[in-house]
Amino acid sequence: MTNVLKVNRWNPEPEIIARAAAILRDGGLVAFPTETVYGLGADGLNARAAGRIFAAKGRPPDNPLILHLSGPDDAARLAEIDARAGSVMEAFWPGPLTLVLPALPVVPKEVTAGLDTVALRMPDHPVALALIEAAGRPVAGPSANRSGRPSPTDADAVAADLGSRVDLVLDAGSVEIGLESTVIDLTEREPLLLRPGGMPRERLERFLGEPLRVPGGAGRDAERRSPGTRHRHYAPAVPVLVWDGGELPPDADPRSSGFVGMAPPPAKFAWTLLFGSAENYARGIFAAFRSLEAREGCRHIVAEWPRPEGLGLALRDRILRASGNSEGGTG
Ligand code: AMP
Ligand code: MG
Repeated sequence: MTNVLKVNRWNPEPEIIARAAAILRDGGLVAFPTETVYGLGADGLNARAAGRIFAAKGRPPDNPLILHLSGPDDAARLAEIDARAGSVMEAFWPGPLTLVLPALPVVPKEVTAGLDTVALRMPDHPVALALIEAAGRPVAGPSANRSGRPSPTDADAVAADLGSRVDLVLDAGSVEIGLESTVIDLTEREPLLLRPGGMPRERLERFLGEPLRVPGGAGRDAERRSPGTRHRHYAPAVPVLVWDGGELPPDADPRSSGFVGMAPPPAKFAWTLLFGSAENYARGIFAAFRSLEAREGCRHIVAEWPRPEGLGLALRDRILRASGNSEGGTG
């Protein structure tokens, strides 16, 4: 059984937030909504609480956690902030952008997975911000799914994956963006794109005035920089195949497969979930994976491969990883 409390998305009830914050301060786990996906929150300065996140998710211990903040001022207590990092926070927070920066000693090594850097984000969601504020500390928060599964975009998905492993789920309905935050590394002169996400790469490059480099052709550099990218991710229980707009993948029989994408496929599928735009596709893809894997007789999921622009870049990354291929990364 999962302990779920409904909370008003725009005006979170103070007594519900206070209850959730008390659980966090006591070292417990609270799943909470953000604008990207639902997060599994713990006290980000408490090593044991952070450890509970790894246990509840079945997350590999070498995959570091993002600390969620209620404002840019909190960042200076956790990381070294130079002028560029400060201006990026000013421009893009609150929002779906995570910054990797040199960590200060106060950050537990369980959070950073032993790296000397820490990932920070200020979410753009009234419930998340109220919770962090009430807890009075940074909230460590990876996506609130079992490791390797599609990220949860509503409270039902959290409950289905985590059950009683989480002390409380705050339910504010479905999320807005549907894909995780963009992660950039600002620890060296050259800014790096570690994970494409809800903040489009183009907007960041325009602001920074230079391209974001994607680390590591062979993957080594990329793995060292962002260990989480090495693991299988986002995968439903049914195999995912990519459709690039040409021939349909030969392994999937449309009569026993589901299709997810923006435009209609060139065959009749048993189940077809169409989203029209990249924004709607992003918002719906993980819930579509979860819905299709539950259909009796669904043997494959065929996912349309979007253009690598705007949210399309992050969609490609998630679809590729869900299909079991981690080569292409941000491509
Ligand atoms: P998740 O919270 O599950 O969406 O994943 C967080 C992502 O941020 C993973 O890809 C991590 O590898 C990445 N990340 C977190 N902390 C760091 C860090 N200190 N350096 C590089 N990447 C990080
Ligand atoms: Mg995740």
